Amino acid sequence: MSNKTKIQWCDSTVNPTMGCAGCELCPDPARILKQLDKEAMKQSSLWKSGDAEKILLSLFEHAPEASSKMTTTNIYHARHALCEYLNGLKEEHGVIHSDQLLRIIERSVSCYAARLHLNKATSIGNPYRKVNPGYAPTFEEITQYTGRMIKTARLHDLCGRIDKASPWKDGLPRMIFVSDMGDAFSRKADFDFLKEEAMPAIKSDDGQRHLWLWLTKRPKTMARFSGEIGGFPKNVCAMTTLTCADKANLRRLDQLREVDAACKGLSIEPLRERLPSSQLDLSDIDWVIVGGESGAIRNVHPFHLEWALELKEHCQANGVAFFMKQLGRAPHWKGQSIKLKNTHGGDWTEWPAEAGLNVREFPPYFRSYSTTNQHNIK
Ligand code: SF4
Repeated sequence: MSNKTKIQWCDSTVNPTMGCAGCELCPDPARILKQLDKEAMKQSSLWKSGDAEKILLSLFEHAPEASSKMTTTNIYHARHALCEYLNGLKEEHGVIHSDQLLRIIERSVSCYAARLHLNKATSIGNPYRKVNPGYAPTFEEITQYTGRMIKTARLHDLCGRIDKASPWKDGLPRMIFVSDMGDAFSRKADFDFLKEEAMPAIKSDDGQRHLWLWLTKRPKTMARFSGEIGGFPKNVCAMTTLTCADKANLRRLDQLREVDAACKGLSIEPLRERLPSSQLDLSDIDWVIVGGESGAIRNVHPFHLEWALELKEHCQANGVAFFMKQLGRAPHWKGQSIKLKNTHGGDWTEWPAEAGLNVREFPPYFRSYSTTNQHNIK
């Protein structure tokens, strides 16, 4: 939970649960193992499918905090041990350029929440690490936190504010990003907890002073939840994330339309490839946020401003609010890399003016909510 955040499209964040069941930005271990085997088999005829799993499991067993669990977290924490092992055993597996395998593992986890958990939660490689109790024990171990939602609801009212640092937020109520450190809809088993913990806080008199922007990569589960509670209250904007135009991502967009909520938004971040506007049906969508990828420079995908421009024009043509969040760590414009001081590319005073991307809009609903809808949602 954070009263203040640097995320440009909200004011605060809160996580009724921490941790997540993963997505393409933090894939399941089977997907990483498959990539490791593929790369190693390319390099050595002695490597067989399944070797990555065998080696890693034996490394887990001998790690300072021994574990038998094949998880993405454990693979990540054993990545250097894997490299050392391979460098020392050339007869058995042939010569493997372990830096390639290291890169596969490091590139596979780009979710910010997962990365923070990797650094702050438990590690099989470091039994002495001081674990932060505000985080799930590992990212995969989804953990409920009682009291966070109501505490957040009590934050002071921002309605009608003048925000000099973020003028695009002028006049708006406090906007609270729900689930930035995991996905509260990872498990249906958390429904009862969310009904008791999250919904009363959002509907409370304090909670009604704010807008709750609830993001999930599992809009189908969110739709089911919204049905069980008789629809989200009017101060909830239901949101999902797209990162590309593959079937799984576009399916999320259709599933978001099934959620019973007054307002719906898409976070298209990190955008890793062009998402053709012809494939983005914006019916029943109120808001689109776009951003390039941030993270370690050697691991990020380039972000072409032309992709964002296409989406901006698509939003304008469909009457949908467009919010350009950040250009990311590796922005390109007209085929050339752009150097920015802000490592996330979030300072819009640095953006090339001719790209026309200095646009940070919110759905008109957000502004009308601040004046007409409060105290009317129970
Ligand atoms: S928190 Fe979100 S981005 Fe991260 S792994 Fe879960 S669904 Fe993916």
